Amino acid sequence: MQLSLFQRFQRNHAIEHAAMHLLGRLPQRLHLVARSDWDGFTMYGHVATETLAWATQEGLRALQSGQHDLAVHPRCGTNLAVTALLALTTYKLFSAGGRRRSPHLLALAMIAAVASLGQPLSRAAQANLFTNTDLSHATVTAIEKRMQGGVPVHRVSISQQ
Ligand SMILES: [Zn+2]
Repeated sequence: MQLSLFQRFQRNHAIEHAAMHLLGRLPQRLHLVARSDWDGFTMYGHVATETLAWATQEGLRALQSGQHDLAVHPRCGTNLAVTALLALTTYKLFSAGGRRRSPHLLALAMIAAVASLGQPLSRAAQANLFTNTDLSHATVTAIEKRMQGGVPVHRVSISQQ
């Protein structure tokens, strides 16, 4: 199966989120930030390599067995992009039409739109646009650790064929 770079990103992003969910269930609080790309994902922060390897493998296995909720993560960076786009769209809708509107009303409309639609829209965008759980060919090929400015950085390589 030949996948585009974006299709590979979507699948790796789903695995990254599943790993983040499993790491978030551990008793110790971990402060981690991850970035997915077409070759896998990079995890910044203090976590043992074995723990990350466990979370990645278990996350992948859980997604493959149908736990697709794990592909969506509430603290994903794409939420911010969707929320910003929503605020901008609301602003354009309300400020269009020539007639001057109260800036307070406009601000209220933006807050209301983002508060009521932001979360479900972000979830939908993550589930349908930014992730993909068709992971039948996915395998974790390597996990490597290096230090960057005193912070551990793990590189998780994933093959999608
Ligand atoms: Zn994400």
